[in-house]
Amino acid sequence: MDQSQRNAVIQYKPLLRASAYIDGAWMDASDGKAIDVTDPFTGGLISTIPSLSQAQVQAAINAAERAFPAWSRQPARERGKVLRRLLDLILRHRDDLARLITLENGKPLKEAYGEVDYGAGFVEVYAEEATRALGEIIPAPVPGRKLYAEKEALGVCAAITPWNFPLAMLTRKFAPALAAGCTMVAKPASQTPLAALALAQLAEEAGVPPGVFSVVTGRASMIGDLFTRSPVVRKISFTGSTEIGVQLMAASAPTVKRLSMELGGNAPMLIFDDADLGTAVDAAMVAKFRNCGQSCIAANRIYVQKGIHDAFTKTFAQRVAAMKLGDGLEADTDIGPLIDEAAVAKVNEHLGEALAGGGQVLAGGRGEGRMAPPTLVTGVRADALLTREETFGPLAGIIAFERYDEAIRLANDTPFGLASYVCATNVETIHKASRDIESGMVGVNTGLISTPYAPFGGVKLSGIGKEGSAHGLDEYLNLKYVCHAGL
Ligand code: NAP
Repeated sequence: MDQSQRNAVIQYKPLLRASAYIDGAWMDASDGKAIDVTDPFTGGLISTIPSLSQAQVQAAINAAERAFPAWSRQPARERGKVLRRLLDLILRHRDDLARLITLENGKPLKEAYGEVDYGAGFVEVYAEEATRALGEIIPAPVPGRKLYAEKEALGVCAAITPWNFPLAMLTRKFAPALAAGCTMVAKPASQTPLAALALAQLAEEAGVPPGVFSVVTGRASMIGDLFTRSPVVRKISFTGSTEIGVQLMAASAPTVKRLSMELGGNAPMLIFDDADLGTAVDAAMVAKFRNCGQSCIAANRIYVQKGIHDAFTKTFAQRVAAMKLGDGLEADTDIGPLIDEAAVAKVNEHLGEALAGGGQVLAGGRGEGRMAPPTLVTGVRADALLTREETFGPLAGIIAFERYDEAIRLANDTPFGLASYVCATNVETIHKASRDIESGMVGVNTGLISTPYAPFGGVKLSGIGKEGSAHGLDEYLNLKYVCHAGL
């Protein structure tokens, strides 16, 4: 397939956009500047998107401010109806959205379908959840007073999202924000802006009023600067690297914004001697290789206890070697291209360093161009580079351990704390490890923990705040206290 045939897989053409969406209108950059969006498998051009001017991004913020009073005063049930219409449209265009995600991100189509369903799940959950944003009646401490607290929308919110889950990372911000009554200006990653623009198209069709949701594209530092400095933007929800998250937090301090920060991870997976072998291998396959390893909750370091080590690595190696590397658009591909050549170079660097430290390759090997094969290396030193930095690619490194305390010490020897995984059958080991590991989330005997129904978020340098569940709605609400005297 040449690039024009690949791009033609999107059947409903309005989903493949080349403009930004501001205040209910599609627009190009005022000075005509554009950014290429390329297909990671071929390097070919999918679309171009505008590199907006500062004035155009400011116009989106202004539109969100104008739209806020009417949107926030609608009953939650009415806002929920709009979200339900959007949910129907997302599901109707499920095939095209999955293909669009694969085209711009490279991930295998079956995983892109998983992302569409996961992303749609946030719209489904929050269409309902806002109707349950209950307040409190507080027993008055003195006579003649009525004290209550009610939840109100924060105001204009900004979202900045990464390239690894271009649709779902946005809907888990967009859906609770709009359900709560907030308005939102979103800036997707420049490498994968098309899913966000497709969401804007469907939001428009669903009847989201102009200004309530805008998608801006262009220079990240300029847009981030406008968002952080604006006194109108009351909250920034960011998913991306810790480095940029820290910059945004510092820049938001003068305007004292609410912040949600979903940042980098370095997830440990602990496999204890009593783990069920099949369960542990299944968990490691998903936790490591989902999204070609480009996930913030990817198992970055796999610690395996001595008694199960050889059996685990043997079975795991067979499974890794059987994965198919190739074009994400082909139905049987397990691992597609990584997002760019720099991502492959990083995987190669981690692999090379692990091998120089005495590691041995049991499956896979070095990557080339944008393709990195699924790779397993054993005998990795506890201080190897791949244990300290997010590899963000399909490289699994195994480190052997002997004692429980040693495993916990290794797991916690990181400034990050997003997800962690434990494979064991002994209930005491499971409960102790879940308690002792410093992370926002723990997967026990599973590598697949993400769901719109549970609170997702990290501790330490992995961030602040939760996304998903009722807690994800609270991130967009302010608890206002009212004291009514003289009764
Ligand atoms: P990134 O470089 O931090 O980029 C994320 C977003 O921030 C992109 O939209 C990017 O725009 C934007 N950005 C870059 N510089 C900015 C600036 N100065 N001001 C404002 N925005 C700026 O991260 P990434 O490489 O795309 O994503 C990978 C990282 O995200 C990993 O560390 C991963 O662990 C983390 N992640 C975390 C979660 C979570 O839930 N905790 C989920 C997914 C990913 P441009 O694309 O235009 O540069």
